[in-house]
Amino acid sequence: MWTRIVQNLLPAPRCHLCQAPATAVAALCPACARDLPWLGAACTHCGLPLASAEEGTLCGTCLADPPPFDQALMPFRYAPPIDRLIGALKFRHDLAAGTLLGQLLANAVAGRTVDCLFPVPLHPARLRERGFNQAAELCRVVAGAHDTPWDSHSLQRIRTAPTQHTSSRRERLRNLRGAFAWQGSTPPARVALIDDVMTTGATARAAAVALKRAGAEWVEIWAVARTPPPHSRNV
Ligand SMILES: [Zn+2]
Ligand SMILES: [Zn+2]
Repeated sequence: MWTRIVQNLLPAPRCHLCQAPATAVAALCPACARDLPWLGAACTHCGLPLASAEEGTLCGTCLADPPPFDQALMPFRYAPPIDRLIGALKFRHDLAAGTLLGQLLANAVAGRTVDCLFPVPLHPARLRERGFNQAAELCRVVAGAHDTPWDSHSLQRIRTAPTQHTSSRRERLRNLRGAFAWQGSTPPARVALIDDVMTTGATARAAAVALKRAGAEWVEIWAVARTPPPHSRNV
């Protein structure tokens, strides 16, 4: 009885985007959830949006130069309102936006099985400047939803990439080589790297290489959104 009384006193969950009554799952109303920029046709390996794709379709980049990670899963294109929510998390530390994005990502990877999650780390100097790592905020929510351990210490970023918004994928890859280091015991066999946005995939490639060198056998990338390269804000 007390539970029911307390439930009646609590405000009904409201949609994060339009304030209409929300479903409990992801703090969105059904209409807003339907209108999200779902990724649609994409490369099976790296998630690059494609005009059309069937299961097993690979983009030109994956055909020519297969990435070191084993699969990338991203539910959304980097488009409104997902881009705005990611900006709110990243630049204003809006934790409600982080929780919503984390829940949406957790829903998108339901059924995937990995042994440990790793947020893509920020360089310590960048972390001090920003005060938090947005990938770690997402990772915490996904790990909680999937009851999977996560580790934000063993994979370290030891070099920052210069912020060249217009640099090519090849340049980004060169800049990021050796940007990550492993400082822990051997990781479990199956792991996932968590990030907010994947653009050129250079960051994901470099971090996946570090995890595989450390001993991981299967590395998935779980990110909220995928932008079509090369016009990148993030990597
Ligand atoms: Zn809504
Ligand atoms: Zn691809």
